[in-house]
Amino acid sequence: MADEVRYERRGVVALVTMNRPRYRNAQNSAMTYALDAAFTRAVDDDEVRVIVLAGAGEHFSAGHDIGTPERDADIEFPRRAAIWWDHTGKEGADRRYAREVEVYLGMCRRWREIPKPVIAMVQGACIAGGLMLAWVCDLIVAAEDAFFADPVLRMGIPGVEYFAHPWMLGPRFAREVLFTGDRFDARRAYEIGMVNRVVPRAELEPAVLALAERIAAMPPFGLALAKRAVNQCEDLMGMRAGMDSVFGLHHVAHAHNAEVTGNPLAGLDPAAMKKASS
Ligand code: ZN
Repeated sequence: MADEVRYERRGVVALVTMNRPRYRNAQNSAMTYALDAAFTRAVDDDEVRVIVLAGAGEHFSAGHDIGTPERDADIEFPRRAAIWWDHTGKEGADRRYAREVEVYLGMCRRWREIPKPVIAMVQGACIAGGLMLAWVCDLIVAAEDAFFADPVLRMGIPGVEYFAHPWMLGPRFAREVLFTGDRFDARRAYEIGMVNRVVPRAELEPAVLALAERIAAMPPFGLALAKRAVNQCEDLMGMRAGMDSVFGLHHVAHAHNAEVTGNPLAGLDPAAMKKASS
């Protein structure tokens, strides 16, 4: 497994840690496929009952890698999520659609279907693509210092690829989060039901492991069925179909940016995004 992700066993818990703390765990493709390998390993290990997704360092995830020296958007990886051609060697919307249907929407959906409970352990930044990673987990436990935002409207894009916002935030607050791009803190995330628990930073890991162990006492097949039951009902509440329709709007925005500015992200790099938000 690549260095981008650490895999540890803590008794019945598999701790999967995003490991690019220098870049606030920005998600490049190497990390994406390393996460997929780690989740698969945890699913295949019968002794693992619960999976915890964590971020090394001060932050959970700053989102998709849009500008680190290890950005690898031009590299071909063996595809796992979607049966579609590879993006490399393609142009324009053909390229972007192929890439994002695989590494963003497809992978997130694949991970949401993991048949074991997954808990996100969130501290510091959980921004844009970071939200996608937390949202596909079944439970979210946040440290008091955690903060959340989806600021991609600054690039003219109506939210990240896994458009769960109205279901995770409620439609009213989803609009505010999208329209302002502003951060919201762990307490607000708890009040609107986006996170399960908020704990002091020093108690984050013990609190998550204690919760994981409680859940691990349940029958594994029962847990898998309960997880599937909630997921199915969420989809009956329109989440899957909504996301499919919004994925088209997301790609209209990328294409518009490319047509008008010559860059699908409207020329905004991480520094520009940070400046725009301060
Ligand atoms: Zn995109």
